[in-house]
Amino acid sequence: MKKCVDTCNKLGVQIVLSMKECIYLDNAATTKVMDEVSDAAVYAMTEAYGNPSSLHRLGIDAERLISYSKKQIMAALGVSQDQGEIIFTSGATEGNNTAIFGITETYGKRRKRVVTTTVEHPSVEKAFQRLEEKGFEVVRVSPDENGEITADALVSAVDGNTCLVSAMLVNNENGYILPIGEAFQKIKKRYPDCFTHCDCVQGFEKIPVSQKKLFADIITLSGHKIHAPKGIGAMFIKKGVRLTPLMVGGGQQKGVRSGTEPVPMIYAFGKAVEVLSGNLSERYSHADEINAYAREKLSGIGAVILSEETASPYILSIAVPNIRSETMLHFLEERNIFVSSGSACSKGKTSDVPTEFKVPEKYLDSIIRLSFSYETSLNDIDALAEAVSDGMKNLAKIRK
Ligand code: PMP
Repeated sequence: MKKCVDTCNKLGVQIVLSMKECIYLDNAATTKVMDEVSDAAVYAMTEAYGNPSSLHRLGIDAERLISYSKKQIMAALGVSQDQGEIIFTSGATEGNNTAIFGITETYGKRRKRVVTTTVEHPSVEKAFQRLEEKGFEVVRVSPDENGEITADALVSAVDGNTCLVSAMLVNNENGYILPIGEAFQKIKKRYPDCFTHCDCVQGFEKIPVSQKKLFADIITLSGHKIHAPKGIGAMFIKKGVRLTPLMVGGGQQKGVRSGTEPVPMIYAFGKAVEVLSGNLSERYSHADEINAYAREKLSGIGAVILSEETASPYILSIAVPNIRSETMLHFLEERNIFVSSGSACSKGKTSDVPTEFKVPEKYLDSIIRLSFSYETSLNDIDALAEAVSDGMKNLAKIRK
């Protein structure tokens, strides 16, 4: 660790050692890797370092670590081996692209209609833009006047010519939970040939995610949102669904995702799933308590709560009236409190998602996203509320 810290210091990366003192409320952007998870990665890098395709013992050991991780993910999704495959990817961006292009290339020669929503992550939205350029008819379902996407709205966007419907389970900007199970069940009943894909990145290991209840043919997941490293993701692909791969090569992972499997990342992902699956409901209750407390404290000092009561408790979107998101973000950063202005993926670029969810225009520049983990404490929320309150006074003075 020492040599690595020296390099970080040379690069100006100062946070390595002081991280323990910070209040990290940006867990929807990424999470800190758990100790047992980094131990797993190190073990696979230094001990079980074989290539899983090798026929000798080291290769077989590496393959065993992959099988372990697949089993963990299958168990977490409530599926058995005969129901489908787990394919590892570099993350959910690759997973979403593989699902959307993979389905449409295989099955979209004649069926040219594809359905999604207007609140998806860019890795879905931009894939649909590309489909549009290729001549697909893209239907995007928007939240209604109450900011809700109903199952019926999704169902009625689908017709007999629809090849794919892709919608997220939990929105990454405000935690809104879409009625995916109800929508996909109805879609599958009426249009059994239409494929269903769900981006479960912000739901997995946070709220119960059951493949059966979601009626999803494909599910995409990301490791770094659940205390595993960045650069690893997974897809569940239902048996019989044929995806045209994005990349060709050595034919690993049944040819769906060629390239030597990153065993350390895969093993780490599996370990995170194992640990978190053991305490999902305790962590949910904890996040619920933190969320309720944050709502009360922050609305008490004049912040506006934007996330619905029924949203995932792990994400809380607020607006601090009249203070620009980035100004508040940096004010909080000076106190070692780390939050996000909307979604981290857009980095400075404004997102259309709040407008889609009917956030009043006057709040659009003032949105802050708070996102919690099992490590977040009530004291963290006290410190946050105090800092936001100070920010409201000081930053208002600057404006005058
Ligand atoms: N979908 C959603 C809902 C996300 O929040 C994210 C990450 N911001 C992604 C997809 C992309 O995941 P990854 O960073 O693993 O590519």
